[in-house]
Amino acid sequence: MRCKGNPVSEGLGIGEVYSYRTMEFTVSSSPISREQVGQNLAEYYRIKEKAAAELKAIIDQLQREQPDKALIFMAHQEILDDEAIDEKIRHEITENLSNPTWAIYTVYEEFGQLLKNMKKQVFRERAQDILDVRNRLLRVANGIIAPNLNSLDKPVVIAAHDLLPSDTATLDRSKVVAIITETGGETSHSAIIARSYGIPALLGIPGLMNKVKDGDRVVVDALDGELIIDPTEEELAEYAAKRERYLKWATDTEAYLGKKAVTKDGVSLEVGLNIGTVEESRVKQAAYADFIGLFRTEFLYLSSPELPTEEEQYETYKQVLETFQRPVVLRTLDIGGDKNVPCLALPKEDNPFLGVRGLRLCFDRPEIFQTQLRAALRASAHGDLSLMLPMVTNLDDIYQAKELINTVRQEMEEAGIPMAPKIKVGIMVEVPSVALIADLVAKEVDFVSIGTNDLCQYTLAVDRQNQRMADYYQSYHPALFRLIGYATKHFLAAGKPVSVCGELGGDPLAVPVLIGLGVRRFSMNPSSIAKVKRVITHLTIDHAQELADQVQTLATAGQVKRFLERELKDYIC
Ligand code: PEP
Ligand code: MG
Repeated sequence: MRCKGNPVSEGLGIGEVYSYRTMEFTVSSSPISREQVGQNLAEYYRIKEKAAAELKAIIDQLQREQPDKALIFMAHQEILDDEAIDEKIRHEITENLSNPTWAIYTVYEEFGQLLKNMKKQVFRERAQDILDVRNRLLRVANGIIAPNLNSLDKPVVIAAHDLLPSDTATLDRSKVVAIITETGGETSHSAIIARSYGIPALLGIPGLMNKVKDGDRVVVDALDGELIIDPTEEELAEYAAKRERYLKWATDTEAYLGKKAVTKDGVSLEVGLNIGTVEESRVKQAAYADFIGLFRTEFLYLSSPELPTEEEQYETYKQVLETFQRPVVLRTLDIGGDKNVPCLALPKEDNPFLGVRGLRLCFDRPEIFQTQLRAALRASAHGDLSLMLPMVTNLDDIYQAKELINTVRQEMEEAGIPMAPKIKVGIMVEVPSVALIADLVAKEVDFVSIGTNDLCQYTLAVDRQNQRMADYYQSYHPALFRLIGYATKHFLAAGKPVSVCGELGGDPLAVPVLIGLGVRRFSMNPSSIAKVKRVITHLTIDHAQELADQVQTLATAGQVKRFLERELKDYIC
């Protein structure tokens, strides 16, 4: 049997299934009496302390062995110490007379749901951390010892409904051939951990736990996103060969991580990193990136029931600058009607992607925008920070945003608040209208970054989140390359730097075309850096231009993809 899954950690694993079922807890809702409040509050703190001690032990161990993984558990520690959560639990016990486990369960559930309802996957997946901390507390409350995946007696493919960070961080990687789960996506912790361990992982396989059982032989093809249950002998031989080919390619590619992004004919390009949280500026690949080309700041707004304060934002932005020690492009708030943002209570819209999104929301709620600007300008005193505006559709947007930025700046200057003497302001090019007036836009901005995810959505009239439209979301559509080429030409002619920070900017098949169209700066997810550097190193600018010319003459996205796969076969897997 074959099933599709989301290949979040590249590779190919063949082995027997070990089905990992996480513990179910029974949580009683029976209330306590008023006289029992003190004792139950003390019980809550005992549970919390024990959970904190467990986390500390894990962090100490990981800091010695794999410091990057320790960050996940530090984030758990922060959740455990979160004042809003703590306050609510205390309130539940003292005012609503909930017993401690019920208070923990309901409050964590509420915070977890808040994140789960977010449209953006990266935030939905942070709900996992909340769930993980909650499960730790409930397990401790039930007096159960932590389960672990570090005593497996033979190599296995781990199958689970979902894996929480705690399940994966301590697993014995030498015994795990692959990971398959029913839920989870690209940015889940399971995915991040699997990637950093180099374990192939295929997530989001519907009904997985009913399809496999312990001991089943499976092939996990996390290159093409397929799970093959009970393969034939021929299939096994075929996939074993595919695995060998991949392993060789992956080893060769890893060697490019530390290389400079210089083309075969000596042109230096810049390779940057896209991040969505502070933690991501600490990933291994960050050391090999020239800049942070896209710092998505939405997480601050989406992960909290209240609007983040200026101080909180300032601290976060400063932390990113100080941790990364390279130029950072901070994208101002890009949320909108399609996301259920608890701290904003946005009205429902019929066409949210065409509605009050990104900069439009900032104009609608200028006080929110001004707070973010103040925080960002203050942070600019601690490093090289630029501002980037999302969802710009016309020049009025740019005039208005710049006016707001200048006003905030002036007020801060008058108040004697330290900040960088000049801060660059750029825009995301993600709507065809601004791409088509690039020559005019260029006069008003310091730089641009092409957001191909939205540019594809708005050019091809296809909702990027609608799974049923997936076939229409064609990022290799020749129209998209023509549009990018047009905009790039005009921005460069006006002397304005152009980068690409959408998914195409980290796609080794598309990067050569983008280079051919004139792009010299790319910003991407950490896992793309080595692959992109590899393809850049083998390319001449002339070759890239030929590819770009050809692509723009082809008729369909399918033809473009097949053409590029053929042309670049030596550098991609
Ligand atoms: C884009 O649209 O390409 C982009 C990088 O922004 P986001 O994916 O956050 O909308
Ligand atoms: Mg976008």
